[in-house]
This record gives sequence, C-alpha cells and structure tokens, in this order.
Amino acid sequence: MMKPSIDIDTVKGFLDPKEGYALYSYALEAGALGPVLEVGSYCGKSTVYLGEACREKGVSLYAIDHHRGSEEHQPGEEYHDQDLFDGKAGLMDTFREFRQTMRNAVLEDVVVPIVASSLVASRNWHTPLGMVFIDGGHSLEAAQADYRSWASHVVTDGILAIHDIFPDPAEGGQAPYEILKLAVVSGLFEEVERIETLGLLRRL
Ligand code: MG
Repeated sequence: MMKPSIDIDTVKGFLDPKEGYALYSYALEAGALGPVLEVGSYCGKSTVYLGEACREKGVSLYAIDHHRGSEEHQPGEEYHDQDLFDGKAGLMDTFREFRQTMRNAVLEDVVVPIVASSLVASRNWHTPLGMVFIDGGHSLEAAQADYRSWASHVVTDGILAIHDIFPDPAEGGQAPYEILKLAVVSGLFEEVERIETLGLLRRL
C-alpha cells in the first residue's frame, strides 16, 4: 500500500484514507491511459493521493477548484473553517493552503492547479483523460454540470470516480448519487467498485 510523501492527516479535508488509497490505485492504472483530472481540490488531500500515482506514471494531474469553498464551507455553514477565510476579500480562500500542501508533498511538477469554476475550465477542454474524480459542489445543479462537463472526456477503459455517494438519503445529500446513476443509465459507464462513499466507474 502506498504511503503519501507527507503526513496526510495534517491536510485539511473530508476524504477517508481507504478512499484515498482507492483513488491512488485506480489512478495508477488509469494513468497509463492519459492524464488525470479532479474537480474540487479544497486543500489538496485527494490531490496528494492522485498526484502520487500521476508522478509514478509520468502524467499530469489537473486540479480544478475556484477555491472559494462549496456551499457547506461558507461562514455559518456546517463545514466552515475560519482559518480558510480571507477577511480582506470577505471570501473563502483555500488556494493558499492547497499550494502549501502541493509544496509539502513535492507535487508541484505533477499537479496543474486550475483556479476556476469547473464550467469555465471545461469550456474549451479537448484533452482525453484517463481518469476524472468529481468532488465539487454538491447541489444537484453543480453535480450535474460537473458530470456533463467532464464525463465525456474519459477515454474507453478510463475511470470516473465520484465522491460522497449516499444511497440512503438519511446519510447524506443525493446529488453525487444522482450523477452516478446517470452515468450507469447512460450506458457509457459501469460501476466497478464502491469504497466507503467513493463510487468507481469504468468507461465502456
Ligand atoms: Mg467530498
């Protein structure tokens, strides 16, 4: 089992280590098919797992995040972290922390940060991708937009990973699960594994 090059517990984020290792393993396989892209980097926890695999495969990891926080990170919301609030701008700013994580993990030569919304980043995207990890906004609109923007770029046999899958509505929001079902119903993907709340699908 891989060991991240930094103490992963020091990186702020919401990824279970089992999910992290799964991201690493699948990226190691899918990295042979093309570069990897993630939506929703936050402070870089998932980026470290994916990045370690990309380094080994010699491919780039595109890390998309506007770094202004999702709905649940805003002041007064459940997952707000005051340390990540830019008082001067009056906005969340997770990019500073993200850059520090990449520097600590020695991943600056692997990871390409894209500080933009997923929609803006996807507008002129034409590069086929070995793997896409979706962990962006969790409103239905945001999740569907991420799916529509990126799923079509996954190459045959490539991997689509979706975080925060809760089949039981009592356990969590349904938007990620909705796009997972959308991917399966489309006939373009088959679900291959579920690790904790991480859904893993292969492009047919
Ligand atoms: Mg998540």
